[in-house]
Amino acid sequence: MSYSAALSKLLGSISAKEGSMLNIDSHGQTFTGTLMPHNESSAPDVIVLKMKSGYNVGIRVHDDSAIKVLDQPIERVKKEIEVEPKKSLKNIVLIGTGGTIASYVDYRTGAVHPALSTSDMVNAVPEIRDVANISARVLFSIFSENMNVDHWQELAKAVAEEINSGADAIIIPHGTDTMGYTAAALSFMLGDVSKPVVFVGAQRSSDRPSSDASSNLLAAARFCVKGDRAGVFVIMHDTPGDDSFAVHTGSRVRKMHTSRRDAFHSINVPPVAYIDKDGNIEFTGEGRHVSTEKTEVRTNMEKNTILLQFYPGMDPALFESAIMKSKGIVIAGSGLGHVNENMVPLIKKATDNGSVVVITSQCLNGQTNLNVYNTGRDMLVAGAMTVHDMLPETAYVKLMWALANTKNIETAKEVMKTPIAGESSDRRTIDV
Ligand code: GLU
Repeated sequence: MSYSAALSKLLGSISAKEGSMLNIDSHGQTFTGTLMPHNESSAPDVIVLKMKSGYNVGIRVHDDSAIKVLDQPIERVKKEIEVEPKKSLKNIVLIGTGGTIASYVDYRTGAVHPALSTSDMVNAVPEIRDVANISARVLFSIFSENMNVDHWQELAKAVAEEINSGADAIIIPHGTDTMGYTAAALSFMLGDVSKPVVFVGAQRSSDRPSSDASSNLLAAARFCVKGDRAGVFVIMHDTPGDDSFAVHTGSRVRKMHTSRRDAFHSINVPPVAYIDKDGNIEFTGEGRHVSTEKTEVRTNMEKNTILLQFYPGMDPALFESAIMKSKGIVIAGSGLGHVNENMVPLIKKATDNGSVVVITSQCLNGQTNLNVYNTGRDMLVAGAMTVHDMLPETAYVKLMWALANTKNIETAKEVMKTPIAGESSDRRTIDV
């Protein structure tokens, strides 16, 4: 809903715009504050002001209300600062995709702006200039829940293009909600990528004092320069403070908390490394080194793939209609990987129809195993397969990729069983 015609006219006649400081006299009360954008859910005769206290107040405007503009907003001018690249430093290309890390909230208006440019990034983290030469390009400005397979494909191609044109490392600022999916997708699409490709995000936008945007970025840049590790990674806070950052394998990481700065956890493996606040890196194991090899990119994906979570009471008819339409089916089963016995004949129907059914576990931690209970054994006989300890979302992304990059279903299944980007292991971890 927008303002009524009369109120729009009145605001226009006094040149009131978002960010203007207004004084409103209405029904014997006086309010002074900054004009906020009209909210979709507000009535057409309601104006929202941000008061000095920081609170927003909705004021119903009547025929006899008096509105005055006290001050107009100062336009925010964006200055691009040219930073001379230094020969002694490595070159990192930032490929922006959006999310909180790339936004700032304009508290005058409450609007969220995507704001990723070279100078925005460098201004936010001046120390990064001493770590590497940074250049930035904005590929998308979207929240990550709006990412889809086409975005992953475009991003993978952009990364390969930059690496093959001489970039020493790539940092991808990304929304945190689906960062794990995109990191997994690039892990498969970029295969043996020769340089570090690091996803970073933020749980708090850059303009907030508690923001984790700059510290995550700085940690990522330090890892890119000093880490000598090739592959796809996610770097985020390891603790709520700014003192430790974890480097996660791109195909093994999940957002485990809605708001904490240390929301990202490696699942079934330790993080690749930890970085302290001074940039010291402590690795937990071995990995691929950086090289000058050309990076090949394979972006074909079988989009006719679904990811389903089993739950008690799941309607078999609904399950059947979803799986019979799909070539690739990933199910996050209960415990070791189970579904209700009434779904087992439907799994058989799907596999007889030429679809691949991959079973993962909604426990996340630990191996799947369909050999322990009768239900599991029946699922195996029905043609379902397991993929060790792979995350459901990684299995979903990998199945899309495996189906589109192999000649037949048997080879696709082989690919699903074989770790290619550190995404699974048949080894039991100590806590299993
Ligand atoms: N939901 C948005 C996204 O994932 C904002 C959250 C964030 O960036 O952390 O892009």
